[in-house]
Amino acid sequence: MTIPTEPIGSIPRPPALIDAVARRGAEDPGLDALYDGAVRDTVARFEATGSPVITDGEQRKYHNFWTYSVHGLANTAPDGFKIPFAAGHTRRMPRLTAGPFRYRRFADDFLDVAMRYAHRPLKQAVISPSALSLMYPADGIRGYSREEFIDDLLREHETEVRRCLEKGAHSVQIDFTEGRLAMKIDPSGHLLNSFIDLNNLALSRFSANDRKRIGVHTCPGGDRDSTHSADVDYAELLPSLFELQAGNFYIALAGEKDRARVLSFIRRYMKPDQRIFVGVIAPIDPRIETPHEVRDRVLEASEYIPIEQLGTTDDCGFSPFSDDTSTSRDTAFAKIRARVLGTALALEMIGKR
Ligand SMILES: [Zn+2]
Repeated sequence: MTIPTEPIGSIPRPPALIDAVARRGAEDPGLDALYDGAVRDTVARFEATGSPVITDGEQRKYHNFWTYSVHGLANTAPDGFKIPFAAGHTRRMPRLTAGPFRYRRFADDFLDVAMRYAHRPLKQAVISPSALSLMYPADGIRGYSREEFIDDLLREHETEVRRCLEKGAHSVQIDFTEGRLAMKIDPSGHLLNSFIDLNNLALSRFSANDRKRIGVHTCPGGDRDSTHSADVDYAELLPSLFELQAGNFYIALAGEKDRARVLSFIRRYMKPDQRIFVGVIAPIDPRIETPHEVRDRVLEASEYIPIEQLGTTDDCGFSPFSDDTSTSRDTAFAKIRARVLGTALALEMIGKR
């Protein structure tokens, strides 16, 4: 018996890297040594936490988990979809201005670099087709229909996931932070259902075996210690979420006000072939959780989720946006260590039952 434990993805970048990107731009080739050093240090420190699965900390995912694949595309304008955070700031994605739609970079490039340094299995997060679908303007693009765009988007996404799987990623996580946000933007549920359908079109291109290594991450967002959709009830999201044809679900839970209620909805709607990684660490909370606290959260979850289907994770990445300095690297790794230790403590207690 085991309880798998995995991170979500991002780790705060070293201050020297953040400064250099701000001064010289993210793509200055002169930054290669800094990026490489950041990945090497992140992998080493990740392994030192004992986490059985690690990431590259998304050190090179500029500027964020949402737009890394399209950042710098010539056929975009900066005035796209706005993500409003509760703290009052917004993050903005590019708007597509012309076809065809192509990724500028694929996440397996990050995997190539991390694999040079890693001794543990590496997880790779990629952005969902539904998030990128928001780049297509509501009033259309002359000569490039929405249908053509969706075809191109699904192909690019499939290529990215397939390359990560083929290169030996332990798991590929599709970041779906816009799922809960969708219920805020459109309480009728129409937008959420269209996101689920689109992502299922992508997932259906993979075999059942591949899908065991593919997961979906949901959270209320995490940037500068703030969220974008924590006020949306999980009950609005979870029934649709578990319709996604993925094998793993990484669900933010530690930061929820009423965890037991969320767990009861998970129990009601999860499918027998789905593994549920519950969040036991809250990255936006500056306080470092103790292993005993984590243990108790895992034991609580085990009352709702069969142990064969239970895993643990962090609620979110520790800095999904590359310039977020609200959490230090030391704090992030201390929290990850608590996740690993607390999960092991829970397993020990469950084994004695
Ligand atoms: Zn997240």
